[in-house]
Amino acid sequence: MNTRRDFLRKFTVSAFAIPLIPNYSSTALEELYGSINEGPVLRVAIMGLGSYGTRVAEAMQSSKRAKLVGVISGTPSKVKDWQAKYNIPEKNCYNYENFDRIKDNPDIDAVYVITPNSLHHDQVIRVAKAGKHAICEKPMAINAKEGQEMIDACKQANVKLLVGYRMHFEPHTLEIIRMRKDGELGKIMFFQGLCGFRIGDPTQWRLSKELAGGGSMMDIGIYAINGARYMVGEEPIWVTAQETKTDHVKFKEGVDETIQFQLGFPSGAVASCLSTYSMNYLDRFFLNGERGFAELNPSTGYGPIKGRTNKGEIDKPHTVHQTVQMDAMASIIFDGTEPVVPVNGEEGLKDLKIIDAIYLAAKTNQKVPLKL
Ligand code: NAD
Repeated sequence: MNTRRDFLRKFTVSAFAIPLIPNYSSTALEELYGSINEGPVLRVAIMGLGSYGTRVAEAMQSSKRAKLVGVISGTPSKVKDWQAKYNIPEKNCYNYENFDRIKDNPDIDAVYVITPNSLHHDQVIRVAKAGKHAICEKPMAINAKEGQEMIDACKQANVKLLVGYRMHFEPHTLEIIRMRKDGELGKIMFFQGLCGFRIGDPTQWRLSKELAGGGSMMDIGIYAINGARYMVGEEPIWVTAQETKTDHVKFKEGVDETIQFQLGFPSGAVASCLSTYSMNYLDRFFLNGERGFAELNPSTGYGPIKGRTNKGEIDKPHTVHQTVQMDAMASIIFDGTEPVVPVNGEEGLKDLKIIDAIYLAAKTNQKVPLKL
């Protein structure tokens, strides 16, 4: 079995090439991620050239192990712009109708799906059928049934399915996980995850049940779910949830504005979380154990992430999350490394099972048992 140390030693990190808070030396980063690995480069095509796709493309410029070589888009003008900016050859450009032909393109290893949530299922399955590794943004799909089908399709095609959980490679996050594993916080009793922002434009796809699959829970609440699992270090066995809505015009039927939810863990630890599209300044994780506490605030934004514990501030390097994530994913795909917290399809599926249960609990006002 690979240890965390093995993983960090094996995978290449290009954080050396990215902008850093000045007081962190490359030695500190080397300590975290190990020495540079000259392994094969993952040649990636991005599907969906929107705001997050753009961020990933920029971050990949600093990656040592992942390179943007192709695009899949429905907007020819964007394709032209990206071709010019990233030097992408015409033969590596596809649209949503013809991208199955990527099967015949030996110059692309993986497709990173960065489109609205409800499209992920069909697009990832098509990527798998084309014989390419699939990297998929969160939420992996809009329910557990779809998630399972995506896992099955990737297994059948013998390709990897990875989910864009960038926080799984974030140094402050990893330090708290280390402290919890090493017993420095004692027996974990409680987690709080507050995740939200005020959403703007009412016409955007994030407020369409059809494209988003839900509301804030699909988009931002998923960070609290995923965080509760990696912070507590257990899988929840029950969920309760309460939904509130102040704006029935903006947040239509099936699009949740605010959901509070609670998770129960086998050890007896509990989590209390908030997911919302109507409050700013909510990006905080708090973990309480019998011997100490750990806090991330902000906890899941693009950074810098800040952390403190009962012992003081967490002193770790700040990284560009997407650069490190892409380096790590290249190593997972090519070297078979295993990250401290998985980013595979099964990990994405667990969050989807919890989301299904949260929606059911909010609707029925019942405690819903979970089996992950
Ligand atoms: P966006 O609206 O900025 O971009 C979406 C892209 O998909 C656009 O280029 C759009 O043209 C394209 N698209 C293709 N088919 C479409 C359709 N039928 N309707 C609407 N757009 C269509 O959205 P985004 O913020 O880039 O989010 C995309 C995905 O990335 C989502 O799943 C989101 O949850 C995820 N995301 C993840 C993070 C993260 O930190 N991991 C951050 C932001 C977004």
